[in-house]
Amino acid sequence: MPELPDLEVIRGFLEEHIVGHTIVTVEVVRPTVIRNLLGVDFAARLTGQQVTAVRRHGKFLLFDLASGNHVVLNPMLAGRLQYCLPDAGRLPRTYLVLTLDDGHELRYSDQRSMGKIYLTDDLARVPGFSELGPDALDPALTLEVFRERLRRFRGQIKRVLTRQDFVAGIGNAYADEILWRAGINPFRKRPELSDEEEARLYEAMRQVLSEAIAILRQRVGTDIHVEIRDFLQVHRRGGEPCPRCGTRISEITAHKRITNFCRTCQPGGLIQSGIRRL
Ligand SMILES: [Zn+2]
Repeated sequence: MPELPDLEVIRGFLEEHIVGHTIVTVEVVRPTVIRNLLGVDFAARLTGQQVTAVRRHGKFLLFDLASGNHVVLNPMLAGRLQYCLPDAGRLPRTYLVLTLDDGHELRYSDQRSMGKIYLTDDLARVPGFSELGPDALDPALTLEVFRERLRRFRGQIKRVLTRQDFVAGIGNAYADEILWRAGINPFRKRPELSDEEEARLYEAMRQVLSEAIAILRQRVGTDIHVEIRDFLQVHRRGGEPCPRCGTRISEITAHKRITNFCRTCQPGGLIQSGIRRL
């Protein structure tokens, strides 16, 4: 699932490569992911439009057009953007192909067909967008603001951290990384955290996300459709030694999501029934 670091690197790449360019042709290969909130022909409204900015809020990418319209992408579990020349092979389940005035194509594919592409003149009409909390890397999200928002939620800390109405941008993989960095067990309830632990969580969130962006900027290149996760420390590393203490990394599947953590570095937390342990 693309998360904040993946999408921030893609945003930066697209800012460099497509902003200022005009969309010359629009091929809707399969219309099912498109949600046209303007009620006009999607391809006709995009054709001839210059892309004036590429922005990101949490896990949404926003393409501003010269017309004042926005194309908003919510890639959900498996949406991918591919930037290439027309002769490059199309990824399976390609839904949309935009050709730019320099001959490059920007394509959208989605193996799970769960992502959505909205066309709108009003971002508030995009489902889920107006409920988003501040972006996890927003400079206005200070420790004080983070604490104030955190206290609205009472569930397990990992589930709070991945709520997009708390802070936007963190999914299953980076939540594991952030909690491991902070030394906080993912299954602890939010009200159990001390002031000091809240501060550690905030610092870990900023550090893990910023470091991942720096790594991905070096490695992604033009292959923005490839998701790189091999540098993560604990996520999807169940059974391997913890990089900090050597304890075998635990793996628990709950709510169809894998959680990895270190029982030594991240003590506490209730172990639920019906879970798989390593
Ligand atoms: Zn450890």
